[in-house]
Amino acid sequence: MSNAHTHSFDEADWPFDEPVSTATFTTRHVMDGSLPVLEVFHDHDGEWQFLCGTTTESADVKLVCMGCVLERDASLFGLADLPPGWCADRAAPGEPWIRDVFAQEDDEEEDDEDEGEEEGVERGEGFTRMSAADFESFVDIAVDELSSKQDALISEHGFGGFARWYFDQASEKLEMFDEEDRKLFEADVIDIGSYSSSSGTWKWAWSNESVLPALREKSAVLKALERTTGRRMFIVPEAFKLDEECMAWELAALCVQQLRAMGVYRAPDSAGRLNNFLAIIAVRPAAAA
Ligand SMILES: [Zn+2]
Repeated sequence: MSNAHTHSFDEADWPFDEPVSTATFTTRHVMDGSLPVLEVFHDHDGEWQFLCGTTTESADVKLVCMGCVLERDASLFGLADLPPGWCADRAAPGEPWIRDVFAQEDDEEEDDEDEGEEEGVERGEGFTRMSAADFESFVDIAVDELSSKQDALISEHGFGGFARWYFDQASEKLEMFDEEDRKLFEADVIDIGSYSSSSGTWKWAWSNESVLPALREKSAVLKALERTTGRRMFIVPEAFKLDEECMAWELAALCVQQLRAMGVYRAPDSAGRLNNFLAIIAVRPAAAA
C-alpha cells in the first residue's frame, strides 16, 4: 500500500470521499484478475469491501489500496455515493448494480448461529437473501408479467388513449379523460412509490408524507417483499438511489405482482421529473362509474 505507485485512471476524477490509497478489502481472485467484483459493501464504520462473492475466507481476503481495486473495473466508480450501511451486488459484469441496506455486524451475530457456512445468508437478517442472479430472474419474471398486463390494459380497457389524467388521493381513484375532457375510465389504485429523475432516487409511497395515510397503509403491504427477497431495500423509509431509471419499473413490476394488480400507471408531475407509480387494482369505463 505504498503511496508511491500510480493508477491507470486520472486521480482528479476520483469520486470517493476517501483518499485513493485508502486500505480496502478485496479477494485474491479480484487482485489476480480471475474473478470480477460482484459484491460491494460500504460498512457502517465507513470501510469499503470489493468482493468477488465466492469467498470471505481470511486466506483469500486481501487488504489493498482502493485505487488498485477500482482501476480494474470502471463500473465501480458509480458506487461512490453508496452510503455507509449499504451494499450493492450484480449478477455479472455489465449487469446493473442492485443497491440494498445491510445489518450491522453486531445484529448479524445474534441470529447467525444456525446459518453457519452458507454464503450470503448472514446479511439477510432472518430472511434468506436472494443472490443477485436469483433476484434478477425474479425481477425478469415480474417484468414479463407486467408487460403482458400493460398490453391487456391497452387492448381490453383502452388505456393509453387519454388526453389527461387525474389522481384523487382521497377517493384513491385515477381518472382518465379524452380530448373533450370526457371521463373515459376510472381506476382503483394503490400508490407504489415515486422516482425522481433529477436525483435518481426512489421513495416508497408508504413512507411518503405527501401520500394520505389511508393510501400509505394500503401500500405498506409491499414491505412483505423484504421477506420474499431477503433484501432490505423494501423496508427503507428514506429515498434511495437506483443505479438505472429502468429499476423504477422493475420495482413497480415486483409490486404489481405482489398486489396481484392489473398493471401500473406511471403518473408524471407537470415538470416530468417526478414519476408516481400507481398499481391498477380495478378499472371501470366512465359510463359504469
Ligand atoms: Zn493503488
